[in-house]
Amino acid sequence: MLADMPRWVCILLACGALSGCAPTAQPTTSPAQPAATAPTPAPRQSASGYIRYWPGELPIVLSVPHDGGLEPTDIPDRTEGVTVRDSYARALAEAIRDALTKKFGRAPHLIVCELSRKKVDGNRELAGATQGHPRAVQVWQEYHAFIDEAEQAVRARSAHGLYLDIHSHGHPIKRMEIGYLLKPADLNLSDAALNTNAVRDRSSIRALGGLTASGFAELVRGPTSLGGLLEARGLAALPSPKQSLAPGDPYFNGAYDIAAHGSRDRAQLDGIQLEVPLQMRGTAAQRAATAQALADALEVYFAKHYGQPLATPAGR
Ligand SMILES: [Zn+2]
Repeated sequence: MLADMPRWVCILLACGALSGCAPTAQPTTSPAQPAATAPTPAPRQSASGYIRYWPGELPIVLSVPHDGGLEPTDIPDRTEGVTVRDSYARALAEAIRDALTKKFGRAPHLIVCELSRKKVDGNRELAGATQGHPRAVQVWQEYHAFIDEAEQAVRARSAHGLYLDIHSHGHPIKRMEIGYLLKPADLNLSDAALNTNAVRDRSSIRALGGLTASGFAELVRGPTSLGGLLEARGLAALPSPKQSLAPGDPYFNGAYDIAAHGSRDRAQLDGIQLEVPLQMRGTAAQRAATAQALADALEVYFAKHYGQPLATPAGR
């Protein structure tokens, strides 16, 4: 079977491409951050010093597990799994935060891991993520504790909310890959099959699938899906009405973060993994455009599917 596949497909499969970010030859350092559109409060810092959390007020939580640049020698390098950095993912998440804050008058929550993925991987199970080193275990636990805290803060003020795990990919098809824990075969099901509870229940947006007045197929790939709303704003995205998954196409369907913090297994926020190509994150202008499109898309998404407008009470 492998002999029939293109070589790059074999490489991606070998790297666990369906569950996390693949190696890329793109730059591995993020540039200096652009000036925020509004003063940003100082973040909280975890006890280890490697996780930062900017609390917010919107029912949206952002996390960035793979763009840390710190490589302390007292934590050994991981010897298994993917260790490639998600270049510009943090800068993109900060641009998203700024766009949301400007548009809605309130900030989302943001959690960033500043420790290198060579040392810890927040988007994997504990054992493989840390290889058991106590300091790495501490950092991993702090990262997830902050996400849990952010989700609880959202749920204390709002019936529903959305968790977005921000990543970057170097796949040859330059489109945003939106992960719901659905497998590639699920994306090619008929609408009738996608609309069954069995499919909805294995997704990280299970709660929203049960809440929306639209069917689950619409929520995943229709014009008002997140991918559909982004496509309408000029960003190629999969799944969406314009983008389908052909045999052999690379696609990240999501991993530990949205499994742990999405709504598949527990009553908590819905979770979506966003894998962003370089063309949507590589420059400050590209990040600002991507962030604005996402903010505009989320305005429609929340009103349409959650029945919960993101605008401020004053109607901004
Ligand atoms: Zn990643």
